Amino acid sequence: MATMARCLLRTGQSTAKFVRKECLNNARSLSSLAELPDTHKILQKSCRDFADNELVPIAGKLDKEHTFPKDVIKKMGDLGLMSVDVSVDEGGTGLDYLAYAIAMEEISRGCASTGCIMSVNNSLYLGPVNKWANPAQKEVFQEPFLHGDRVGCFALSEPGNGSDAGAASTTARLDGDSWVLNGTKAWITNGYEAEATVVFATTDKSLKHKGISAFLVPKPSPGLSLGKKEDKLGIKATSTCNLIFEDCRIPRENLLGEPGFGFKIAMQTLDAGRIGIAGQGLGIAQAAFECAIEYSQKRMAFGTPISKMQTIQSKLADMALSIESSRLIMYKAAFLKDAGKPFSKEAAMAKLAASEAATFCSHQAIQILGGMGYVTDMPAERHYRDARITEIYEGTSEIQKFVIAGSLLKEYHVS
Ligand SMILES: Cc1cc2nc3c(=O)[nH]c(=O)nc-3n(C[C@H](O)[C@H](O)[C@H](O)COP(=O)(O)OP(=O)(O)OC[C@H]3O[C@@H](n4cnc5c(N)ncnc54)[C@H](O)[C@@H]3O)c2cc1C
Repeated sequence: MATMARCLLRTGQSTAKFVRKECLNNARSLSSLAELPDTHKILQKSCRDFADNELVPIAGKLDKEHTFPKDVIKKMGDLGLMSVDVSVDEGGTGLDYLAYAIAMEEISRGCASTGCIMSVNNSLYLGPVNKWANPAQKEVFQEPFLHGDRVGCFALSEPGNGSDAGAASTTARLDGDSWVLNGTKAWITNGYEAEATVVFATTDKSLKHKGISAFLVPKPSPGLSLGKKEDKLGIKATSTCNLIFEDCRIPRENLLGEPGFGFKIAMQTLDAGRIGIAGQGLGIAQAAFECAIEYSQKRMAFGTPISKMQTIQSKLADMALSIESSRLIMYKAAFLKDAGKPFSKEAAMAKLAASEAATFCSHQAIQILGGMGYVTDMPAERHYRDARITEIYEGTSEIQKFVIAGSLLKEYHVS
């Protein structure tokens, strides 16, 4: 650093001017990381109000009764939250990914299950459809899914392979004017309610991941049945089930993108989707933090509010730090995506950091609430259960580290 400063001092007047200008520009772009543009602040406030009024009061009941929040999803569709980054020309809301990430955080702060349904429709379903579908496909598979009337789903994982998505064993065979799909897709979110799905299947197993293609399948379809609803630890208001394809015949024109592009479509979709899951993790972390800080100021022990105790303060400080730092990485990943720059590493970092923040904060919140943290009268135990999935789906934490390290080794390649 000192050497660099000396070098800068030795440079001429014009270079010094340039450096000063660059520093100012950098400071400006850094401040835009710390402070959101006005448009995004307005969006944040509307989503927060919506979450406080419409989601917080019912989230516990949805969780207990495992109810898909159909009416809420319709309301969110009317607000533009079910197709945030689809262009206005195509009937969507026309906002950027930063807006999507912010909305995901606020909605998930109100109800993590609702945030999950929102993320699957926006990024896992509409993401690939919007990017890869042709105009005729968009009429059927995009337009009806933009405003919360219908939701879609994304079927990549299988009973035999989750992280190793390139090992897909579901097959697609061309027969005349139809594709015939056979195999089982596992863990599919929105599986029961979705009215269409993007499915990944191999047309040639010997080509490994290069033999995988993506298909658009309406639901219901002959030859497509559903497995039982999984009984889960958290996000209980979402349905998760197997999609079972037995000679499921779909029109030849339902291939999404080029033959053999499926793995690329899936990976690009997950890259972007991870920014949304970071938002979900942050929403859960923030909700747990707010629950804990409020309780700590009301709960008396040894004649004083527990918030006055240093060990409790230390927990609150650590929680706030994990939230703030992962939020900044999420904003950075969204900025990069919106700027058309590479963002895979940052999206993986954001998902990793925010999902760890969700688990950490919800764990600490229970500790701060003591016995009250352990019962369903307070939302802390739900946050704790909901947090856990953010470390698993759209790539486990181990897979995020794999992605991050892969990028680092390319950046720091020693020949
Ligand atoms: C509630 C829920 C909803 C889901 N929704 C969907 C959905 O809508 N669509 C969909 O397609 N899928 C969905 N999934 C599946 C999810 O994406 C997978 O569960 C996840 O990718 C992990 O795959 P797996 O369960 O097969 O675990 P595995 O891949 O078997 O992994 C098991 C363990 O091994 C580790 N591991 C694996 N490979 C490596 C490696 N290379 N290096 C280090 N560690 C490794 C993992 O990190 C993990 O700890 C959902 C899952 C759940 C639980």
